[in-house]
Amino acid sequence: FGFKGCQKIRGPQIRSLLEAKDFFLFDCDGVIWHGEKAITGAAKVVNALIRQGKNVVFVTNNCTRPRENYVHKFCRLGFTDVMLEQIFSSSYCSALYLRDVVKVRGQVFVIGCDGLRRELLEAGIPCVEEADDPDATIYNCALAPDVKAVLVGHDDKLTFLKLAKASCYLRDPDCLFLATDNDPWHPLSGGRILPGSGSLTAALEVASGRKATVIGKPSRFMFECISSQFRGVDPAQCLMVGDRLEVDMLFGSNCGLDTMLTLTGVSQIEEAQEYRNSDLSTNQSLVPDYVVDTIADFLPAFEE
Ligand code: PLP
Ligand code: CA
Repeated sequence: FGFKGCQKIRGPQIRSLLEAKDFFLFDCDGVIWHGEKAITGAAKVVNALIRQGKNVVFVTNNCTRPRENYVHKFCRLGFTDVMLEQIFSSSYCSALYLRDVVKVRGQVFVIGCDGLRRELLEAGIPCVEEADDPDATIYNCALAPDVKAVLVGHDDKLTFLKLAKASCYLRDPDCLFLATDNDPWHPLSGGRILPGSGSLTAALEVASGRKATVIGKPSRFMFECISSQFRGVDPAQCLMVGDRLEVDMLFGSNCGLDTMLTLTGVSQIEEAQEYRNSDLSTNQSLVPDYVVDTIADFLPAFEE
């Protein structure tokens, strides 16, 4: 395409891009919704693509819910045609990684929300049960003898004790160190932010002197999960749509996919242009192939 290369595309260009691709990967927060509010027009776009027979999947680094909850959320927000099989979250992919890649034997110590633990249990992966003992400290608590992996994700009930226990488990070189994602922070309304899984992982990396293996975007593993569940996925036929250059564009580029930045989320077009103009060659992987203001800009392409 003559219009490829970190620039805003419009009407006829969007139409020919949508015609050329048959597999669409959408990031969720900042692309499809903001928290509990759908982006205007997003549901129409997703429903129209699905009805046209395009493959549509969702790739989210939000590890706090099991996939079923996402199906309900999609439905609640008007995305009526989305099914469980289309949802690839960092919690689901972490469960697949533990079950199918490392075939973990023994328990997993989880720093994360209940949703992450539920996804692991559904895949048959035993998690260390946390006793609710207010007097427990790292000096007197019991440590499980058979912990074979520490998995870190967003945890809104993080305690010092959990960090301390995880640091102890990680002393064992045979205990794997995994992170659902490495997102630094997430925007909330009113200018507030939420520290992301990456900030918790960083704490444990310092304490353990080790580096976590990241499961979610920008790691390729999520795309491997998609490829193994959808027959004949051709990266050349895929478009990855996201709002964060360092996560979504890098993910697309790591997987050999065309990338599109939508300006309804975290990253601005000026940041993309700065990466493009920088001399650092690794920065080029963060530059989107296409930019739109919102995925609602796809809508005219579905009209006759
Ligand atoms: N993790 C948490 C805890 C979040 O709240 C969010 C966004 O709200 C994300 C990850 C990022 O999700 P996504 O990859 O869909 O943008
Ligand atoms: Ca996002």
